[in-house]
Amino acid sequence: NGIWRHPCPMNMNVVTSSRSSCPINAVVLGEALASEESELVFPSKDFSGQAMVASLEKYLEMYKRSIEDPAGFWSDIASQFYWKEKWGKQVYSENLDVRKGDIKIEWFKGGITNICYNCLDRNVETGNGDKIAIYWEGNEPGSDGSLTYSQLLQKVCQLANYLKDVGVKKGDAVVVYLPMLMELPITMLACARIGAIHSVVFAGFSSESLAQRIMDCKPKAVITCNAVKRGPKVIYLKGIVDTALAESAKSGISIDVCLTYENQSAMMRGETKWQEGRDIWWQDVVPKYPTTCEVEWVDAEDPLFLLYTSGSTGKPKGVLHTTGGYMVYTATTFKYAFDYKPSDVYWCTADCGWITGHSYVTYGPMLNGATVIVFEGAPSYPDPGRCWDIVDKYKVTLFYTAPTLVRSLMRAGDEYVTRYSRKSLRVLGSVGEPINPSAWRWFFNVVGDSRCPISDTWWQTETGGFMITPLPGAWPQKPGSATFPFFGVQPAIVDEKGLKLEGECSGYLCVKSSWPGAFRTLYGDHERYETTYFKPFPGYYFSGDGCSRDKDGYYWLTGRVDDVINVSGHRIGTAEVESALVSHPQCSEAAVVGVEHEVKGQGIYAFVTLADGVPYSEELRKSLVVTVRKQIGAFAAPDKIHWAPGLPKTRSGKIMRRILRKIASRQLDELGDTSTLADPSVVDQLIALSDS
Ligand code: ATP
Ligand code: MG
Repeated sequence: NGIWRHPCPMNMNVVTSSRSSCPINAVVLGEALASEESELVFPSKDFSGQAMVASLEKYLEMYKRSIEDPAGFWSDIASQFYWKEKWGKQVYSENLDVRKGDIKIEWFKGGITNICYNCLDRNVETGNGDKIAIYWEGNEPGSDGSLTYSQLLQKVCQLANYLKDVGVKKGDAVVVYLPMLMELPITMLACARIGAIHSVVFAGFSSESLAQRIMDCKPKAVITCNAVKRGPKVIYLKGIVDTALAESAKSGISIDVCLTYENQSAMMRGETKWQEGRDIWWQDVVPKYPTTCEVEWVDAEDPLFLLYTSGSTGKPKGVLHTTGGYMVYTATTFKYAFDYKPSDVYWCTADCGWITGHSYVTYGPMLNGATVIVFEGAPSYPDPGRCWDIVDKYKVTLFYTAPTLVRSLMRAGDEYVTRYSRKSLRVLGSVGEPINPSAWRWFFNVVGDSRCPISDTWWQTETGGFMITPLPGAWPQKPGSATFPFFGVQPAIVDEKGLKLEGECSGYLCVKSSWPGAFRTLYGDHERYETTYFKPFPGYYFSGDGCSRDKDGYYWLTGRVDDVINVSGHRIGTAEVESALVSHPQCSEAAVVGVEHEVKGQGIYAFVTLADGVPYSEELRKSLVVTVRKQIGAFAAPDKIHWAPGLPKTRSGKIMRRILRKIASRQLDELGDTSTLADPSVVDQLIALSDS
């Protein structure tokens, strides 16, 4: 098994590129990947010296135990939390094999606990009540606020009491449509406190998307705010909620309570449309409630939340997470993947409308008593230096973001970064897509001054927490590789027939056996859960992603398998070709799709966004094609380069290749729903540029 082998112990401290050595498996992986494979970035002695897991040996020892004795490994960790009653004899039970019956995953069943209690009361009771829980940074520079753990607990209790008063009970769903105000984590925690199931809908989704989710989970209450400013733009959230509620009422789903926070920084309440009896201002009622509230104790397997996946690939799925396992898993992954210390100030740029905001803005950090930044605004407002301004202002030590943001800041130029100190930074993190090696290096060298390890965390809404991730300080990194599995995770790369591949290989990324943070079902559709995730490769959880493992056992995510392109029998991951294009100094972003090709079966069609100020020319086109030829091989050379001033992205910043495929194959009447795009107008722009 590759992972037990040690990476070659070269002695490097900075990024170096040794492109000539080991061009192994060049056809399957592409030479680009093969040469990246040998590039090792070692943690500094200083960093490793203070790291929680300071060596590969220590990791291997812990990993081995987590696989050989999952019950012992995880119950030792779980014991550090507060349980009103301990779980039963069986720490976990599972069936991941459709051939053996229904899929079932349970962890700590019979254990009675509450995740809000563990996030807040437990920290207050252990003397951390005066520690800052949340620093809130508003859209406009200069507007900010903060809450200590004690203050946060009081606010949560007030809302919890209000919700109970309007009849929200254990097991009821509450839909939350809020921007990144402190009230968003407050709402999540208040629901958890009373055993209600929150379903946060990213406050950028359209009224149709919101209505669809309301109709699916039939909530007891909806919580929103009147408006929000993101960058220079005001968005009237309450109006969107009104439309969604009218829509769901047509299907017989009527909502009795719409609690609305007055977000004065965006708009005063007077201008808000109102439905008496249903709508109520948060500020008029919630502050009147007592600041303490009894906890509703729940079973470890009682549902905590429902979150609909972003929908990059079709109808959204209501991913259901339960309480105990999720609690233990998010807390542990946060602690190790960021090498968390109590003195850290942690900033994750994700919105709580996504899983990252659930597991790594709210629950994971707060279970560790961390100080968290909640940022309302847009990362490039008023200019692309805003992130580093915030880093300096709060002395952020752990900074976690997405490749799409890294690439856009890289495009804006280094000056926006280097004018800030960033001295406080210790660890950087990435999630959401494979991070291209060139973006990785920029993040590492420019943002982190070649000093901060990068945790490239691979995971999914479905997995609840990190699955494959570096542990900073424990082993050398390879730019673009998520490196090794987290404790308790057994990744399996399988071929088309579901045969597990060993050693150096590439194929479909699956997971054998459960981990505590795994989702338990798709809400109201257990059959779809089994069909989508467990039937494709019986015996395994199938992630939907492609992956390869190199000779050192490092894992490289190659993108969704639906996006794999087959050119003359060569299976090429979109991520590979995109990385090669982005490594060209004048290309800032690329999205590659397959199109029908008479001879090759499929041809490669590449959409490219150029660096600021660079004009598109025939010469540049050729040079982009040459870059791919050189790095991967002639078979991967794009047949068509399509200039894209902007790319269609989901609101979580992921490229929607489904739409690009239609544009590439000129099936313009089959574009489908484009309303969930962050900026639907880019589609028309791309169509207009089709023939240029
Ligand atoms: P949907 O499932 O609705 O299409 P989605 O998959 O984009 O949406 P998420 O659960 O937020 O929704 O994203 C998980 C996916 O993001 C992974 O399956 C993978 O494709 C990609 N991903 C996340 N982190 C990484 C990473 N570090 N490296 C590579 N890919 C990543
Ligand atoms: Mg997905």
